[in-house]
This record gives sequence, C-alpha cells and structure tokens, in this order.
Amino acid sequence: MKAIQFHSTGGPEVLQLADLPIPEPGPGQVLLRIEAIGVNFIEIYFRKGVYKSALPLIPGSEAASTVEELGPGVTGFAAGDAVVSCAVIGSYAEYALVPAAQLVKIPQGVTMEQAAAAMLQGMTAHYLAFSTYPLKAGNTALVHAGAGGVGLLLTQIATAQGARVITTVSTPAKAELSREAGASDVILYTKKDFEAEVKRLTGGKGVDVVYDSVGKTTFEGSLNSLRPRGLLALFGASSGPVPPFDLVQLNSKGSLFITRPTLWHYIATRAELEWRSSEVLNWVAKGDLKLRTEFTYPLAEAAKAQIDLEERKTTGKILLVP
Ligand code: NDP
Repeated sequence: MKAIQFHSTGGPEVLQLADLPIPEPGPGQVLLRIEAIGVNFIEIYFRKGVYKSALPLIPGSEAASTVEELGPGVTGFAAGDAVVSCAVIGSYAEYALVPAAQLVKIPQGVTMEQAAAAMLQGMTAHYLAFSTYPLKAGNTALVHAGAGGVGLLLTQIATAQGARVITTVSTPAKAELSREAGASDVILYTKKDFEAEVKRLTGGKGVDVVYDSVGKTTFEGSLNSLRPRGLLALFGASSGPVPPFDLVQLNSKGSLFITRPTLWHYIATRAELEWRSSEVLNWVAKGDLKLRTEFTYPLAEAAKAQIDLEERKTTGKILLVP
C-alpha cells in the first residue's frame, strides 16, 4: 500500500511516499480501506518533534473509510461498513488499523469527505461549547483563528446555542468566511489590537470565555479580554507554545480560570464518543453544520497540505485523498 512516512523529524521534506505492507488487524482492531484523510495541526507538531513518537511514523489519526477486515473479537461492524474515526493508527495511507472501540458508523446522507472533515474538529468544537464552557444564550465568546478548521465549526455551534461570537482572523477574505459562519464581529488581529477591540465591542466588560488555539501570540491578550471570573480554554498552539506563566496573574486579572483541554479526555468513554460524533455527523447530514473542504490534496502531496496549513493559507478542513 502507499503511505506517507517519516524516518526523522524536521521540515515538510521529511514526509516521504512509501510502499509498505498492508497491516493485519489484531484483537479488537479493524482494518480500514481509507477513502478520505483529515489533516490536523497536531501532525505538524509530531513531524517537527515537538510531540514525541517512535520512528519511522505514518502520521495522521483521522479518516473516513470502508471496513476491510475485522480482527479477532470485534463485533458491531462488518466488511463494507462506512466508518469514521479520529484514532486511526497512521491515517496518511491507503489502509490502516484502528481500535474498534474508537470507530463509529457514518450516518446516511454524510459522504466520506464530509465525515473526515467533521469528526475531529467537529467533536473538538462540540466539547469546547458544551462541556469546557457550556454556552448559553446571552454569553459572549471570543474565538481565535475564526476561519480555521475548528474556528468555523465552533462559531456555528456556539451561535446555534445563542451565544454572541467575536472572532479573530488574519485576512479580509478569512473575515468574510467567519462572518458567514455566524460571527457578529470579526477582528483582523494582524492589523488591530484585538484586546482593545474586544473591550470596545463588549462595552468594557470583556467576554465570558476565550477559545484560544493560537497560543503564544494571543495568550496574554486573551486573558485581558475576559470578564472577571471568565474562562480561557487554551486548546492549541498554532503560533507556538505559551511560555511559563505566573499563576498569581489569574488573581490580579480578575479571578480568572484557565484550562488546557484535549479532545481525548472528552471522548474517553464510548458513550461520550457516540454522543459527540452522532450530534456532529447528524448536524452535517441535516445541513445545520456547514463544512468547507476546498483544500483537498492527493495523498502524495501531504507535505504541500502541511505547508499550506502552517503558512496560514488554508480555511476550513484540509483533506488528503488516497
Ligand atoms: P486551523 O485551521 O485553525 O489552522 C491554524 C490557524 O491558526 C491558521 O489558519 C491561522 O489563522 C492561525 N494562526 C495564528 N498564528 C499562526 C501562526 N503563527 N502559524 C500558523 N497559524 C497561525 O487548524 P485546526 O483547526 O486544525 O486546529 C487549530 C488549533 O487547534 C491547532 O493548534 C490544533 O493543534 C488545535 N486543536 C486542539 C485540539 C484539542 O482538543 N486540544 C483538537 C483539535 C485541534 P489566521 O490566518 O486567521 O490567523
């Protein structure tokens, strides 16, 4: 099978197209024939060695697939089922294994591309808006990178709950997309001081919650954009990791809360995985959650996909097609 693999960490050039044997499913595993692969920022951290992993590595964890073969002891799935998961073991490939416990069926009316585009970022937006800070009507949220993969979905889900959503983006074209997703106000944080803008837009009060996936360049301003006792959900580091931080600042800035969540702790049980994935996929089926998938590349061009993501050229979801 064709797969993308890297033997050492580094720039996008370490991603090589390789010919590898199709893996065999062990107990509790399912062999997938992959149809659409979701690209996520975390794969860049692994490629650079910011997150550690054994090498060589086939990157990727998200894919929509057809079930090819069941390993011993697997029930509930059959060959030919259309399935999706964000716990695939090396999804940048034509075939891959996944623990059956992490696999869900794709509902009627959702294509392979849509499922691969919605699963990881959709469930991330879901836990941020329903569990990390359960939004309700009257809340105001600040969402950074509002035209990104998570950003567009989080904006739609948050506004559907009745929250007002203010976003930040880097270009006017991205601002247009963010507004279409439901943002009431969009700040060009590359041109304007977003902290001052948020103060102005909230009459000096600040927002209830900041969903910050940008990290290093936005962290300080995010804290300063919160109302007293507001919450910062720092869920990514697209601009780099936040440097060490003196907790006493949470006191002086208004008895603030910070959390550094990850999706895995919010889909830790089968019940939670099924709840979040079925809501997200059914919203897609009904047309209530809109996906942008114009950044789709052949598997062999995985390096180009990662370059475009890193260079802030993309909006919405990035897909690879084997
Ligand atoms: P995005 O589509 O949001 O892409 C990243 C965006 O971040 C860019 O498009 C850009 O938007 C913005 N950005 C700001 N500064 C930089 C910079 N210096 N370099 C690159 N991008 C920058 O990616 P995803 O939706 O896939 O993921 C968003 C973030 O959320 C990632 O950090 C990811 O790791 C994290 N994440 C965390 C999860 C969790 O559970 N904790 C789960 C899923 C994702 P603009 O041009 O508008 O500034």
